[in-house]
Amino acid sequence: MELSERQEKIIEIVKENGPITGEQIADHLSLSRATLRPDLAILTMAGYLDARPRVGYFFTGKTGSELLTEKVKQYKVSEFQSVPVVVKEDASVYDAISTMFLGDVGTLFVVNDDGYLSGVLSRKDLLRASLGNQDLNIVSVHIIMTRMPNITVCRADDLLIEAAKKLIDKQIDGLPVVKDTPSGLQVIGRITKTNITKAFVELILDEQV
Ligand code: ADP
Repeated sequence: MELSERQEKIIEIVKENGPITGEQIADHLSLSRATLRPDLAILTMAGYLDARPRVGYFFTGKTGSELLTEKVKQYKVSEFQSVPVVVKEDASVYDAISTMFLGDVGTLFVVNDDGYLSGVLSRKDLLRASLGNQDLNIVSVHIIMTRMPNITVCRADDLLIEAAKKLIDKQIDGLPVVKDTPSGLQVIGRITKTNITKAFVELILDEQV
């Protein structure tokens, strides 16, 4: 976050004199308390300062990058996940390709007859299957999918940064967001590189406000 000259000054005053009341900070700067109010609100919200009732403002000792890290660590998968697009195991490769186009996604999740996660299909999985001479209406996706238990998943409560690390470590484009049930994993969402990019943009744009 880019701090204004006045906000930098306020931080210096609080560092040296804290705990200090808003009134006293205003005196240091020869400004009114009302003029300072928005700056104090911003600095408190951003985490540079903390305010205790009847005591005053004090410096938290956190740097800009520490505060940014704290904010990223608050991002949960549930806040950024998208709707999953699924196909059944007995769907044909042709149907899966159509579903991928219609759903405008790069990764499809495959579910078994009971509706639980059984596989993943990427764009290249489908392209590879299309290269041979097989009839795409006959080959079913369970032949070509990456299957359980080799599927990397995440959960709604996970930190977004953990999901992002999995995408990088496994070199994949998306993860199913799953809910654990005694009978299997229920697919409730999708986290892709696009969701991570959105989080990154939100983080930076929010910082500029
Ligand atoms: P693409 O193959 O189109 O580049 P990916 O990099 O996502 O897309 O997929 C690479 C391989 O990893 C594919 O064979 C795919 O089935 C598999 N894969 C994709 N997502 C997952 C996942 N969440 N867990 C396990 N395997 C996956």
